[in-house]
Amino acid sequence: MICKKPFKWYYYAMDFNAKTLKKSLGQNFITDINLLKAIIQDAQITPDDNVLEIGTGAGALTKVLSEYANKVLSYEIDKSLRPVISRALSDAQNTQVVFEDFLEAKEKDIIKFIGKNYKVVANLPYYITTPIIFKLLDFAALPASITIMAQLEVGQRIVAKPASKDYGALTVGIESKYQAKIARKVKKEMFIPRPKVDSCVIHLVYRPYKIDDYDFFKRTVKSAFCARRKQLVNNLSADFDVSKDVLKDILRSINIDPSVRGEMLNTHQFIDLSAILKKHIQDK
Ligand code: SAM
Repeated sequence: MICKKPFKWYYYAMDFNAKTLKKSLGQNFITDINLLKAIIQDAQITPDDNVLEIGTGAGALTKVLSEYANKVLSYEIDKSLRPVISRALSDAQNTQVVFEDFLEAKEKDIIKFIGKNYKVVANLPYYITTPIIFKLLDFAALPASITIMAQLEVGQRIVAKPASKDYGALTVGIESKYQAKIARKVKKEMFIPRPKVDSCVIHLVYRPYKIDDYDFFKRTVKSAFCARRKQLVNNLSADFDVSKDVLKDILRSINIDPSVRGEMLNTHQFIDLSAILKKHIQDK
């Protein structure tokens, strides 16, 4: 660990009434100091790093981040947590908490505080894990890395291989920009209140593939997984104004069996497919 500051005991951030926590907002707070330290390690946070956190909660992870990073910007939707957060972060001068729905947050406001070079570290509200990830993937200034606590099942979807049941638009969307791994599995007992499912820390490192039209690529991937049991050409012909025969020719031209289902394609094949499909539509 590169941080030179001494590590303190942060349990005073846990000074809240657990009975008041809101299940509907995914309020499962981390209570284990070693887990907080492990997340910082997984994220490879250095004193130069600016960090975006989503879901301040009682401020436990925020507080640890403020000790290890240069600057921290944290979003929390639940204004009733303000007094707890103020206490927990009273001496965290490098940290700003914004009481706002992160899904409504503007990238320019985020960049204004932490700049374009930043990392995301968060114990995410599980009910909106996927929308949060897709929102981050759409940023013009993409995070250098994204280290998030999520349901183990989401982690398995993120690192899934083609043709497996977990493989889907989330896997391909992330793989097009980030190298993904499950850094650690986390038991339910590490949270208050205990979630019903086990969790994991997912670590994503920015490693983009060259994609000329990302919106068209996203549309192609979304279409391919729209009805998983259908052949790829059926899904694509329903979404794009292109006949099945032409789509089969397009697939053959990039050495893909025209009878495949979308889940058989890897990220490179989706990139090739979206480029040639776009060209065909433009040239029509
Ligand atoms: N960071 C804390 C921790 O690790 O103990 C709390 C994490 S808790 C899993 C997720 C937090 O996200 C909750 O405090 C919840 O209120 C907040 N949250 C839920 N939806 C949100 C949203 N749309 N925008 C910002 N925060 C949200």
